[in-house]
This record gives sequence, C-alpha cells and structure tokens, in this order.
Amino acid sequence: MLLRTDKPNIRSYALDDLRAFFEEKGEKAFRANQVFQWVWQKHAKSFGDMTNLGKDLRAFLQEHFLITELDVLSEQHSNDGTVKSAFSLSDGKVVEGVLIPADSRMTACISSQVGCSLDCKFCATAQLKMMRNLNPDEIYDQVVAISRQADQKFGQPLSNIVFMGMGEPLLNFKNVSTAIQHIMSEQGLGMSYKRITVSTSGVAKMIRRLGEDRVKYRLAISLHAADNEKRSQIMSINNTNPLEDLADALKFYYAETGSPVTYEYILFRDFNDSEEDARNLIRFSKHVPSKINIIEYNPVEGSPFRQTDPERLERFRRLLENAGITATVRRSRGKDIDAACGQLANKTAS
Ligand code: SAH
Repeated sequence: MLLRTDKPNIRSYALDDLRAFFEEKGEKAFRANQVFQWVWQKHAKSFGDMTNLGKDLRAFLQEHFLITELDVLSEQHSNDGTVKSAFSLSDGKVVEGVLIPADSRMTACISSQVGCSLDCKFCATAQLKMMRNLNPDEIYDQVVAISRQADQKFGQPLSNIVFMGMGEPLLNFKNVSTAIQHIMSEQGLGMSYKRITVSTSGVAKMIRRLGEDRVKYRLAISLHAADNEKRSQIMSINNTNPLEDLADALKFYYAETGSPVTYEYILFRDFNDSEEDARNLIRFSKHVPSKINIIEYNPVEGSPFRQTDPERLERFRRLLENAGITATVRRSRGKDIDAACGQLANKTAS
C-alpha cells in the first residue's frame, strides 16, 4: 500500500516529544504514555485499536498522525529450523530478516537498509542497489515479528539480535541507534545490550563515534582479510578505510568502552586461507581484545569464490588457537532457503 500524506508517523516520536505535542494541543500528557505503549508494546495497527483511549482522542490521533507496521510478505522455512521472512514496508519496498534457532538461543538477524551501498564481492545484498535507510520503527518491527515467530514456532523468547542482515548499520547510524534504544527500553522490548550485536564492514569514523557514545552493545567487524591488498580486492570500503585506520578506530573504541570486539572472517579457498593469512589475522587481532568467528563461505551467484576445504579450515583454526586466540567456527544456517549470511537479496520478492 502506498501512503501519500504529510502526516508524521507517530512512531517517529520519542516519548518526551509526544508528551510535549499532547500538552501543546491541550491533551493530557500522560495519555502520550498510553499511546506509546500501544505503538511499541501492544503492536496496535490502527488508532481504533487503542481501546483505553476515548473516541475523541482516537479521532485526534487519526487526524494528526500515521501509524504503520511491517507486514510479513512471505516466510520460508529451512530444514534446519531457520525461518527467513520478507517484510514489506509502507512504501512497498522489501527487506529480509532471519530467525536462527539453536539449543540455547533464538537469534534474530535483521536488516538496517533496503539494499546496500557497499560492494563486497562475496555478498548477495551487494548486488541490489542501495534504495534507502530503514526507519527506527522498521528496524524495531523486524525484531517484534521475529520474536513472535520464536514464541509461536519454538515456544521460546528471542534471546539475541544481530545486525547482520541487509545493509551497513553504521551508515544508518542514527536510525539504528534509535531502534536499539527502543529495543533496550523498558517501554519497548526491554532487551539487554549484551544480547545485541552490530556488525560493520569497518566504517572507521563511525567506530570512533560508537566509542565517543560509549555504546554498550557488542561490535563485530567483517574483516575477511588482514592485509590491505587482499581486503581491498574483496571489500572496496578498505580503499577509504584501510586497516591502519580501522585499527586506530578500534583502539579508540576499546579505550572508551572496554568492550572486546569480534572479527568475522569468511574463509575463501586459496584466497585468504593460507598460513600467512592466518599470521596476518593473528597480528591484526592483537590491536584490541577480541575473538574471531571463522565463517564458512556461502556461495553467491556470480561470485568467483569457493569454500575452503575442511582440512584447511581446521588448520587455520588451529593456527589461531595456538596463538592463544579464541576462534569459533560459524557454520551457516538456512542455506537451502538462501537465508544464510550474505545470501539476503530479496529473491522471493523480486
Ligand atoms: N554490512 C554489515 C552487516 C551485513 S553482513 C557487515 O558488513 O558486517 C553480515 C555478515 O555476513 C558479515 O560478516 C558478512 O561479511 C557476512 N557475509 C556476507 N556475505 C557472505 C557469504 N557469501 N558467506 C558468508 N558470510 C557472508
């Protein structure tokens, strides 16, 4: 549905702004709290749903504001339990989010942008053009929708959120931060910052900003190569944010927050899986306290890369381990439905 109107979305208001607006219009400020609860916790789809408000107030809201919610356009179920959803936004655009169930956790992998402006050579989202940033409510609603799936399909609450879907979260920083505030707030989902991870391709300036803001949520860096020449070949962001700048930004971030970081490292056969590559990674990872997530490459159409073989993967992991580094291997989930890392490309919706 296309909405053409000048009315603001009520969910673009912070609670204090909504209270001020109510007061200015001669309404009681505490009503703003009730409205806030309806839009952020009780998932009202229309002002008519807000049954503890008087008719006049509902009409007043209707006159001044829009209310929008994400629609689940389609759901795909992997044979490993992973659920990929396509969400349609109020302007008809589509983003994807994934629920990844595991024994002890239910993780939502969510998107921050429609498409992506970066062109990482191994990522399917890069093949879509960058269309727009998601609004805070669109980010939040993905979490709500995926958390419902966790409840309904697995009888378990959502435990973790990772910004590893479509888009570069640090290039939509303001909206991502507002969404995270709502996700953490008692008036929102009340989730702990420890359970939220923002993954970035390495926008050095914004990593410094996270440090300045002393953010508490977790930070993951998509590293994938620890020498400039190789990294620039696969991630053009490295041309403007070389490893030296990334390291400096991370040192600042760590000094301000005291939080260790996670490096994500996809192993590509005969590209970044040699002993020398491991030594470079070990060296880079010493800049700040960190751990390493070795990621299995998920083949993407049109990309020249191949997965490394199990022996080379194990050798690589052992080299890290012998250097005293905590390294885990992340085997991808949901591959049969293109829901794995780097495979989100709106295939079903296009
Ligand atoms: N832009 C952010 C978040 C999205 S990517 C970032 O770059 O971190 C989320 C993770 O999926 C990143 O670590 C990314 O490098 C990884 N990824 C992308 N394509 C992949 C692929 N084909 N196989 C495995 N992981 C991939």
